[in-house]
Amino acid sequence: MSAGTPTRPASVTDELLERLVARVPGRTGATWKLTEVYTGEVLVELPQSTPEDIEAAFAEAREAQALWAQWPIERRLEIFDRAHSLLVDNAHTAADLIQVESGKNRRMAIEETCDPPMVMSYYLKRAKRLLAPKRHSGPVPIVSGSTEVRVPKGVVGIIAPWNFPFATGLSDAIPALIAGNAVVVKPDNKTALSPLYGISLLEEAGLPKGLFQVVCGEGPDIGPTLIDNANYVMFTGSTATGRVIGERAGRNLIGCCLELGGKNPMIVLDDVDVEEWVESTVFGAFGNTGQICMHIERIYLPESRYDELRSAFVERAANLTIGAAYDFGPEVGSLVSPEHRDRVASHVEDAVAKGATVLTGGRARPDIGPAFFEPTVLEGVTGNMLAGHTETFGPVVSLYPYRTVDEAIRLANDTDYGLNASVWSGDLARAEAVAARIESGNVNINDALATAYASKGSPSGGVKKSGVGARHGDQGLLKYTDAKNVAVLKKQVMGPRPGQAYDAYVKQMLSSLKLMRRLRVR
Ligand code: NAD
Repeated sequence: MSAGTPTRPASVTDELLERLVARVPGRTGATWKLTEVYTGEVLVELPQSTPEDIEAAFAEAREAQALWAQWPIERRLEIFDRAHSLLVDNAHTAADLIQVESGKNRRMAIEETCDPPMVMSYYLKRAKRLLAPKRHSGPVPIVSGSTEVRVPKGVVGIIAPWNFPFATGLSDAIPALIAGNAVVVKPDNKTALSPLYGISLLEEAGLPKGLFQVVCGEGPDIGPTLIDNANYVMFTGSTATGRVIGERAGRNLIGCCLELGGKNPMIVLDDVDVEEWVESTVFGAFGNTGQICMHIERIYLPESRYDELRSAFVERAANLTIGAAYDFGPEVGSLVSPEHRDRVASHVEDAVAKGATVLTGGRARPDIGPAFFEPTVLEGVTGNMLAGHTETFGPVVSLYPYRTVDEAIRLANDTDYGLNASVWSGDLARAEAVAARIESGNVNINDALATAYASKGSPSGGVKKSGVGARHGDQGLLKYTDAKNVAVLKKQVMGPRPGQAYDAYVKQMLSSLKLMRRLRVR
């Protein structure tokens, strides 16, 4: 384990920080002290937006959107093509900002910087086809037809969490912008710097000024005004907040996509390869210090190999390097804040008080930094413990033995959540059969989480209390559009011909329905 106070990255200058926060509106002058997680030192005073600031941001965005929507799609895409290169070329500065504000380790920060370019790549390839008008046949062949036209929603409000601030602040905005919308994003106060930096790169690539607005403030203070002004809301965060957002969007009769929490299970079958499983699973449980919505919090191991798998996993977890460093050394970084560290610690304390055993970890590490907590493996966790049924969202995972695969599947599904799951087996067909029975929006086979998340062509979302809707895939862009149905009738042929009795017309209409079905006319 490494300790010591790290030196702030050279790219994170006061000049850069002041430049980034300067675009956040805050007419009262109120600010929020944004701190470096490893040291607790204030980095910059972040302006706090008022409801009037938010209304003004929407007005400006709406004006920019009216012009942007008229740009041909090819011209819009050229900007994202340039932005892709800029984001990749500046990945290290983005990672510096992600690290200072979130405290995650550098390996994870640099991986996070890859998310927006990956999303861009997918939509650069697909968007033109997705947004092209589609012709459909009408009710009467030849003389009628309809065209499905994709119209941007207008201004999309995005509310983002702190755990992947750069990814959730930018990646969900990319398809919205490509589809012809403007965006007003509200990052978490703690982690506003990296999305602000990413937006500055999009503007350097040519994104028109005013199209991508940023407002900052505590969620309950500014959330209502943001939702009330938006034409669609994209929210990523906890299930509790998701309900509040969904209720308000429902009252306003606007669409929303809610990407929420999880209590993600892993089922390990008895023919697993131990080495591959251990390496992927320590990442699945402790990557991003356990603050990944798709990370694994429950691992079901076959009783026949329980001791062997438990020892291998616990040994690797105990040897993970944890540290505060702006280099690629530490395998595990900090939690986002001392408050969140206390929440994670409370789950471990509650489990231990109710009879669970700590196999490794279990302690805060103030000797490394204010918000560090050790990778922790628990055993004997039951449903009446916090760690047994609610999301911990930290580096804490529980091991459970199972006797039969049916029992493992029942236990994996015994949760209100359904975001991610993982199944491990040397036999893909066996793993797929288990995956088919798991109630989850994502299932990774022989991986913990990254394969599903990085597969940008497939929609990724939660079921049950883990969300509504999805990001990625075609639906990740189409959700930001309305389908306008433009129908044309070339000649008035619907209804009785002049002089035709209504009975005769009905008879003719019903038999033509059968004929069209036989001829496969849609
Ligand atoms: P959170 O719900 O507390 O906050 C998320 C965002 O919502 C923040 O920007 C916050 O300021 C804002 N907010 C809070 N209350 C609000 C309100 N009343 N109105 C409007 N906005 C409000 O979540 P968090 O603690 O920041 O993030 C962690 C949670 O996010 C975990 O539950 C995690 O699983 C989830 N998450 C889910 C995904 C996913 O894709 N499913 C991805 C990342 C994180």
